[in-house]
Amino acid sequence: MVEESVVNRARELREQLNQYSYEYYVKDAPSVEDFVYDSLYQELVEIENKHPELVAEDSPTQRVGGPVLEGFKKVVHDVPLYSLNDVFNKEDITAFDQRVQKALGHQVTYTCELKIDGLSISLRYEDGKLVQGATRGDGSVGEDITENLKTVRSIPLKLKKSVTLEARGECYMPKRSFMRLNQQREEEGQDVFANPRNAAAGSLRQLDSKVTAKRNLSTFLYSVADTAPLDSSSQFDALQELEDLGFQTNQERRLCHSIDEVWDYIAEFQEKRTDLSYEIDGVVIKVNTFEQQEDLGYTVKAPRWAIAYKFPPEEAQTVVKDIEWTI
Ligand code: NAD
Repeated sequence: MVEESVVNRARELREQLNQYSYEYYVKDAPSVEDFVYDSLYQELVEIENKHPELVAEDSPTQRVGGPVLEGFKKVVHDVPLYSLNDVFNKEDITAFDQRVQKALGHQVTYTCELKIDGLSISLRYEDGKLVQGATRGDGSVGEDITENLKTVRSIPLKLKKSVTLEARGECYMPKRSFMRLNQQREEEGQDVFANPRNAAAGSLRQLDSKVTAKRNLSTFLYSVADTAPLDSSSQFDALQELEDLGFQTNQERRLCHSIDEVWDYIAEFQEKRTDLSYEIDGVVIKVNTFEQQEDLGYTVKAPRWAIAYKFPPEEAQTVVKDIEWTI
């Protein structure tokens, strides 16, 4: 029997996190910092790991993202868009590497990429032409935002090859555009956006695409729903292939042959983070070859072949205070 106080705490965490998710994903207006959300989420994960019987259907650990907004047509993702499991320190990254090596029986190479703090998007091309653009939504069903995405200049309406594929990546608002937008909103007496991620989400989920067109959004594409149409057989090569097809990809990617190299990459970008023209909230580490990715597979929510290292918040002190306050 699980102690009543633990059962109650799990319920309290589920309710609190679901409320935060609603504000974040549906309203595009979070009421707490991501670090606060992440800490409470980790607390729930720990309780659920210790007491699997407490894993409820409505637990945020069992779900990706948020519901689809009224007003948009729904798009069913034939291949779901997953989230990523988060880690916060070197030990957890090492543990991930050990799990991967144990499952595959040998050492592996990783592609490290910056974790762009934007909004997941999916772009479907038929014979090289953009036919549909969607949000991730809850991973299985997203919102049809084709007209809005067509206004984003870095998204090719036509690819350089007549291929049929579904490209996936992140739509984001550059820091400068975010600052300008908030300044303008303040002058007009409108609410300001909490951060560039929420500004990007709010801009993409507009029923009038003319509003989106004015928001100066950009993209980095990093994967495809089904790798069959690609010539590449690894993540690192696929990024180049996506670029050759006409997509914007992030140039800071790196192939790492050991977990120490992965850690060096993380440390380097933790330093450089503020100098970038877009926001990142961490680093994504992906097993490089598609064959190995397939062997590792997925959990209900995330791939087993990738992990997201989340940077510590820039003002940890204040945030820790917030957590105490929130609990
Ligand atoms: P996530 O943002 O932690 O990670 C998964 C996402 O990373 C992917 O879906 C993808 O969109 C993105 N990503 C960026 N760069 C990528 C790359 N190079 N390769 C692959 N993926 C990349 O997960 P999530 O499910 O989107 O959101 C959960 C996070 O949202 C939480 O960790 C929390 O920080 C935040 N959140 C905050 C609140 C709040 O109230 N502040 C509420 C809910 C969620």
